[in-house]
Amino acid sequence: MLLIESLFLQGLAIAIGACIGSFLNVVIYRIPAGLSILHPPSRCPHCLRQLAPRDNIPVIGWFLIKGKCRYCHTPVSWRYPAIEAFTAFLFWCVAAYFGTSLPILILCFYAAFLSWLLVLALIDIDTQTLPNSLTQSGLVIGLIYQVSLASSGASGSSNVASISNLLLFGIIGAFVGIWLLDTMRLAGRIFLQKEAMGGGDPKLAAMIGMWLGWQNILLTIMIASAIGTLVGAIAIATKSLDKQQQIPFGPFLALGAAISLFFGKALIANYLNWFGIV
Ligand SMILES: [Zn+2]
Repeated sequence: MLLIESLFLQGLAIAIGACIGSFLNVVIYRIPAGLSILHPPSRCPHCLRQLAPRDNIPVIGWFLIKGKCRYCHTPVSWRYPAIEAFTAFLFWCVAAYFGTSLPILILCFYAAFLSWLLVLALIDIDTQTLPNSLTQSGLVIGLIYQVSLASSGASGSSNVASISNLLLFGIIGAFVGIWLLDTMRLAGRIFLQKEAMGGGDPKLAAMIGMWLGWQNILLTIMIASAIGTLVGAIAIATKSLDKQQQIPFGPFLALGAAISLFFGKALIANYLNWFGIV
């Protein structure tokens, strides 16, 4: 791909990412509240006045209104523009990292996967739940992704055998994810005598396994457990959390999955190499 095409793709990814991020804000706020994500249009949660189109411009809109509702002057959280900017960053990462090597359709799937992970992570932080509607829809789109990947030829070969192989790859990944997390949850109950994990975590692991396959779901869980343990230890050591308080595991799984999406192949190869397996 020419440099100019690559730069165009990256710019487009940033613009689309910021707009999608604006929609993700709506999803993060409305799904746990049981509200429709399509209706009504964006409005101030305090005075319920509909936002003017110029206030809806991602990131910039928030600065235009100086972080306050135009009508009732209630402060609007900085989290909104931050999520828009972060989504733009994630989409840029996909374009910059995979842009030259994969078909556009697959890049769109990766952007969708990262969007699902971001929404689930933030809802888990906010409400300590992972809504079934999101983990299940994410799993189904993961299945469609595996079929598309095989049909696009991006996986190497393009035939019926590779479609069934990739489907199997995803389905085994989903089973490994749900089984491992269920086992960890049970172990937590037996050894720690407390609920170490929410009921939604195995479903999120199944979704990630469907997208990334069984090798990467193992890597994801390893990364999530390592970072989760570290953050938990720091939180307890700095007294920002007492021992009985729960830390949601979903955000760590999402982070592990994002790292595996970008660096999984290289990390697994290094890991096996380290043990002299390949
Ligand atoms: Zn208002």
